Amino acid sequence: MKRLFTLLLLAGWAATSAFAQMSQPILSENTTKISDHVWAIMGFPNVAIVVGSHATLVVDTGMGPKNGATVARVAAKLAPANTKLFLTTTHFHPEHASGEPGFPPNTILIRDSVQQQEMVKHGQEMIDMFSSRSAQNHDLLSGVVLRSPDVTFDQEATVDLGGVTARLLWFGGAHTKGDELTFVEPDRTLVSGDVVQNKTIPNIYGDGGTPATWLAVLDKVATLGAEHVLPDHSTPGDGSLVASERALISEIRTRALALKSQGVSADDAGKQISADLKTQHPDWPNTNAAHFVASVYAEPQ
Ligand SMILES: [Zn+2]
Repeated sequence: MKRLFTLLLLAGWAATSAFAQMSQPILSENTTKISDHVWAIMGFPNVAIVVGSHATLVVDTGMGPKNGATVARVAAKLAPANTKLFLTTTHFHPEHASGEPGFPPNTILIRDSVQQQEMVKHGQEMIDMFSSRSAQNHDLLSGVVLRSPDVTFDQEATVDLGGVTARLLWFGGAHTKGDELTFVEPDRTLVSGDVVQNKTIPNIYGDGGTPATWLAVLDKVATLGAEHVLPDHSTPGDGSLVASERALISEIRTRALALKSQGVSADDAGKQISADLKTQHPDWPNTNAAHFVASVYAEPQ
């Protein structure tokens, strides 16, 4: 019993310290190897760097140009001979996209067209909102001017990096409308953004997707057959994270719809479901599903 208690304490500590690292807005130059061609800077958010024999792809920028410059420096260090640098973003939120001005001017910026439309519509609004959260954010985001992408695509773009290929995919709305997934072959590594996470309650911010469209996206993700998954705000894992995410969203949605049909308010349903998730997953850093339950309640019927 005592041993079990100690193990639980250790597991809790490990989860908390990983969580602390992943909420750190100043990115470090340390990398973690995810698969043969993929490295990650673990932070807020986790940034992926995919290295081929003649080109490098970065997925996400960190918050503001200072972090963008750190990421570009790390990419150059990992592959000094690669003169071609591609940059894409998992979604338009500031910690994922606002570091772009810190990259070298000849960086080729690619993103799906739905994400770019969201950026045009809500990008500045999100930057202003993040800036108001802390002096540090304000500092990181001051004077950010975002440029148009060099390339946009509807559903898929393939980037050949030399011996390794990145498929950039838009499968539909989930956390945002324009969520982009990157699938790296031959590694079978999925850079999943917020769409597939690890021990994390899903969240739809603003006019994003719906829980139902998120499930449809996950059905498409499952067909990729990922072996490694790098989420943006949680720890990396294997391909089973895709099915776990689907099960989690499906469970919350089914329960919320049942409570809704019984006339339970969205607030009460959110409290009940969050309390159950806390019991089921004592090691998760946060099990508050109230916002996601509200998204289920708001789904068009
Ligand atoms: Zn986000």
